[in-house]
This record gives sequence, structure tokens and C-alpha cells, in this order.
Amino acid sequence: MSHSGGCLCGDVRFTAELAGSSTGACHCDTCLSWAGGPFFGVQTTSITFQSDATLRAYTSSEWAERGFCGTCGSTLFYRLTVDGPRKGQTNIALGSLDDTSGIELGYELFIDNKPSAYAFVGDHKRMTGDEVMGRAMS
Ligand SMILES: [Zn+2]
Ligand SMILES: [Zn+2]
Repeated sequence: MSHSGGCLCGDVRFTAELAGSSTGACHCDTCLSWAGGPFFGVQTTSITFQSDATLRAYTSSEWAERGFCGTCGSTLFYRLTVDGPRKGQTNIALGSLDDTSGIELGYELFIDNKPSAYAFVGDHKRMTGDEVMGRAMS
């Protein structure tokens, strides 16, 4: 399903093919620092940028980078950079999409690191940091 989106100032614009209709919220320390709260990522199968002159990427770990707009600072995507079958897999930021209707909260990651200031209702999947890292290594 094709979705358009972009950053706050409009310098970065893209069209993304979404892998499904769910988003995942990550409460890990890196996401909290980067996004100012949980990062809501939506898995994509492809992204085409119509405008990306101000697009920047920060290498946040040995296995991933994070995309943002160098002008307005908008959080845009999390992308796997480690060699393997998932290299290049990109989770676009839910809030960067122009239309988020129909996208449900499918899972939470690093639930054991979630600040106590908030909690999401629902019976979606919740994974601890150990469970996430175990899955990433397998
Ligand atoms: Zn921008
Ligand atoms: Zn995270």
C-alpha cells in the first residue's frame, strides 16, 4: 500500500510502500533520545524520495542508521545497515506519513525500558529488550 509523507518543513518528501498496516512502538534508550519519546516505526518494502537534499542519516549502532531532516530535525526512519537478508530494511516514522488512518499499534519493543509516564492500551504484543535482542541475533 503506497503512502506519501515527509518532514515538518517539507524539504524531504517520499512515497513508501508499507509492508502491512501496523506500527511498532520502541521504548529503547536510543529511540527515546532520538525521537523524544517512543519511536513509532512502520515497516516498508520500498521508499522512493521525491526530495531529499536535506536528508541526513546518523549511524546509531553497528547495525542501523536513523534518517532525519537536516533543516527541521524531523525523525524520519530507522534502517538496518548490517550485512544479511534484512540489510536496507527501513521502518518509516509513523508521524512522517501524510495519512495514518487504518494503521494499528501492533507491538511494543523494550517494554521493560518504557518510562512510567505513559502506557499504551490494547492486547498487542509486548517484548522486553532481551526478547528483542534475542530475536535480532537469531
Ligand atoms: Zn525538514
Ligand atoms: Zn528503539
